[in-house]
Amino acid sequence: MGAIDRKSCDVLVVGKGNAALCAALAARDEGASVAMLEAAPIEESGGNSRFAGGVMRFAYGGIEDLKRLADIPEDEAKSADWESNTVEQFYDDLYRVTSYRTDPQLSETLITQSLDAMIWLRGQGARFTPNYRHQSAVIDGKRRFFGRMPMWMVGGGPGLVQDLTDSAGKKGVEIFYETRAAALVYDGERVSGVRAQCRGKPAEFRARAVVLACGGFEANPEWRARYLGPGWELAKVRGTRFNMGDGLKMALDIGACPYGNWSGRHAVSWERYAPEFGDLSLPESSYRHSFPLSIMVNADGKRFVDEGIELYNYTYAKYGAEVLRQPQQFAYQVFDAKVKHLLRPEYGHRNVTRITASTLEELAAKLEGVDAEGFLRTVRAYNAAVRTDVPFNHSVKDGRCTVGINPPKSNWAYPLDTPPFEAYAVTCGITFTFGGLRIDHETGQVLDVNFHPIPGLYCAGEMVGGLFYFNYPAGTGLVSGTVFGRIAGNGAGAAALGK
Ligand SMILES: Cc1cc2nc3c(=O)[nH]c(=O)nc-3n(C[C@H](O)[C@H](O)[C@H](O)COP(=O)(O)OP(=O)(O)OC[C@H]3O[C@@H](n4cnc5c(N)ncnc54)[C@H](O)[C@@H]3O)c2cc1C
Repeated sequence: MGAIDRKSCDVLVVGKGNAALCAALAARDEGASVAMLEAAPIEESGGNSRFAGGVMRFAYGGIEDLKRLADIPEDEAKSADWESNTVEQFYDDLYRVTSYRTDPQLSETLITQSLDAMIWLRGQGARFTPNYRHQSAVIDGKRRFFGRMPMWMVGGGPGLVQDLTDSAGKKGVEIFYETRAAALVYDGERVSGVRAQCRGKPAEFRARAVVLACGGFEANPEWRARYLGPGWELAKVRGTRFNMGDGLKMALDIGACPYGNWSGRHAVSWERYAPEFGDLSLPESSYRHSFPLSIMVNADGKRFVDEGIELYNYTYAKYGAEVLRQPQQFAYQVFDAKVKHLLRPEYGHRNVTRITASTLEELAAKLEGVDAEGFLRTVRAYNAAVRTDVPFNHSVKDGRCTVGINPPKSNWAYPLDTPPFEAYAVTCGITFTFGGLRIDHETGQVLDVNFHPIPGLYCAGEMVGGLFYFNYPAGTGLVSGTVFGRIAGNGAGAAALGK
């Protein structure tokens, strides 16, 4: 074994995604010296945060709150209906989609601190702008938002990571790339550093406090099969290849308490032939989030979910698992020409598995691996079941449903009768895992199996267990990373300096 390289600082942050950067910046603002370890080389750095679309779900009452995040000119402010996402609405959404299992203290912290954390994030150099790209349309002459996420980070996830990296650099945070943390330095009483592999050589980093913000185990097929269940090793990974569960293992190895929905995950419908991991050069091209306007059919030609039960924000993160459960782990999203203009732009990208036909019979014959007769039976029954007396409106839950078929389609149903017909092949893409560590919600400190804080150990981001169960409301991952990253950074910084 080569020589062990020893470095030291007040606060050592493991990871370089949004949660880690927020923790580093908060610890620095406490006055601590800070270093970060990033497993990835610089060009692949930034974790899932770098792959993120960059929409944020935070509590706000209206335009006055949004103006604290971006300079929105008065005429623009007046010309739109900005919706609201009040604390109560945020609670309702988070509790409903997690089947009332979300941890009360963590969710309260997340929700009630979310707006303040966004203002802080802006102060750290991140840039917000109105999210006119998705879930926003001009209706009856007025721009409307429908998804409770009217703001977006300039440049999406990559823009956010770049802005925060620039701020960290300016504040003197040192970042060690290609440095994979492997174990905590722990004497049985307190954590005082990390052992890592730095560009193929062992290295030891000493610190008064360590913040683990190095993601879940979504990129680790062996852990996925172990914790999420058989078949999950077959999912495509939407984001980084570097989140292998290392931080969780390191913490569990010293007696940290596991917490939350360890068999749960965020997973979506995703381009069937997407590469194994996310592609930073085409981050959104494998998204297939317009499924509420489709019917989804499996290899038997059968539907298997209510595609339109909610706006996609509240179902997309659980429907990936439904696709994975289908024979050969695939499905087709089928649309007709009437809704073509409403599909998200990536449906028009290259590298999309799209089948086009001018009749349903022709489409059935072209759907590779699908029982053509079964598909035609499904479409006939579905078309006959649509309540065409209810007006179609994609910007609200329009109640335009089916009657008498199972599964039903509760909103945005329309008969597939207008060519050309289009079908898009999808499989399951995993985003991140829900299982994590138990933390003190006020300090971000990791608790041990006796629920006592482990001196010197903090955690944030995907590694925090207990927030998400079964499902997830869109836009919450980045906000959670900021809220709990900031808390962990403050906690670690204060502890390191004996405050
Ligand atoms: C395609 C996609 C789109 C998304 N869109 C959105 C969105 O629009 N809005 C939203 O809120 N959320 C979105 N998310 C989810 C969001 O990206 C995550 O919830 C969030 O980024 C997690 O942040 P994090 O800092 O905890 O983890 P990450 O950003 O994944 O950071 C983990 C870091 O740890 C590093 N690392 C891992 N292991 C080690 C180790 N052993 N040693 C050192 N470093 C290590 C990684 O390289 C990485 O830098 C999206 C995710 C994906 C994949």
